[in-house]
This record gives sequence, C-alpha cells and structure tokens, in this order.
Amino acid sequence: MTSLAGINFHGIGTPQRDLEPGEGPYWLSLRQFHEVLDRIAAAPDPTRFTITFDDSNLSDHDIALPALVERGLRGRFFVLTGRIGQAGSLGTAHLRALSDAGMTIGSHGIRHVAWTGLDKAELARELQDSRTQLEDICGHPVTEAGIPFGLYDARVLRGLQAAGYTAAWSSDGGRFRQDAFLRPRTSLQGSMNSSDLDAILSGRMAPLRRLRRAVGMVRKRWTVIGP
Ligand SMILES: [Zn+2]
Repeated sequence: MTSLAGINFHGIGTPQRDLEPGEGPYWLSLRQFHEVLDRIAAAPDPTRFTITFDDSNLSDHDIALPALVERGLRGRFFVLTGRIGQAGSLGTAHLRALSDAGMTIGSHGIRHVAWTGLDKAELARELQDSRTQLEDICGHPVTEAGIPFGLYDARVLRGLQAAGYTAAWSSDGGRFRQDAFLRPRTSLQGSMNSSDLDAILSGRMAPLRRLRRAVGMVRKRWTVIGP
C-alpha cells in the first residue's frame, strides 16, 4: 500500500482577522506557500502528498484555490462553521466555490476548541452540527474532519466515527496508509527553511522522532484524556 504524506497549511499572506494566541507561527508568506506547492507539483508523484488547510481563513479561497488550480493540485479544507461569513474567514459562497472546483470540504468543528476537553453532548454538537451545516452549504456528504490543535484521544476518535466521519486528520507528522481512519499531517510554520521543507517533503524523520511519534499515536488512540 502506498504511503502518503499529509501537508497542513493554516493562513497565507497577511491575516485579515485578529489571530488567536500562538497562531502567528503557522501563517506562511505567499512566497513560502508557492514554494511548497511548486515542490509538490514537481515531485515524481504529486498524488503522494495530501494538501490540507485548517481554520477556514479567507486565504484558502483568495490565495490557495487559484494556486492549486494553476498547478493541477487538489486540497482539503477543514472549516470552522462558527466563523462562516466573519471578516477574514470563508463565507458560504467561498465554500461553494472551493467545492465546485473539486476541493474537499471537511469539518474543523464549530468554535475552534480542543475536542478532548468537551463533554459528550458538546463533542457530539461540534462534530455533528458542523458537518450538517457544511453538507447543507455544499450539497453533498461531508465525511472528513481536521482535528483542532491535533488533540485527540480514544473518546474523540469514537465520537468522530459515531458522527459518521470516515477520516480524521491529526497533526502527528509522518506518513499514513490510504485506508487509515486517523491520518497524520505535518503543519508547516513560517519559520521553516528550505532544508526543513526538504526533510518534510521527502518524508525523512530522525529515528528517535519516528519512535516517539509512534508511541505518542498509540497512547492517544487508547487513552481518554479529560471528561
Ligand atoms: Zn485550527
């Protein structure tokens, strides 16, 4: 089975809204974003990379969509439904434009909160209501979720499956198999240089880091954190 690499973006260019604490490092400049896409497009098999976007920033539509289309690439966009139509975030027309262009729309929840910290009813609402709203806007099933802050545990994964999701994207880094339910991604940061990008795009991971990641993923899958 082919192993795939998940590359995760947040905002690109100049933010059009106030950022949350700790969010700034995950924004990339226009130049950095185009460099990553150029490298993926030039890879021997660009389909081995899955390109995803979290937080439904307006740059998903204004910058990422034309850049992907130009290079014949596809992306997955994980949307915060509580921000739909707010300044600096995607609105319903933007979501339809992304969907109509062949991009995948998924849920990132409603409020951008850690799903591990929610009680059962709140978790169900974040997972189900966001999905229903996106399905109403896009007119087709929404089956994938981007996990906020990459924070999950066994209960979150069960909740995602109970809510009908077929894939959940984390932030554990490294590669995954095409049929995996839990799919790790590497979130790119503005401070990354060309050699960092080389390592990420080539799938290289130091042996100790690879071991820590494997142990961490097993622990999160089986441990229930919080209420
Ligand atoms: Zn997020």
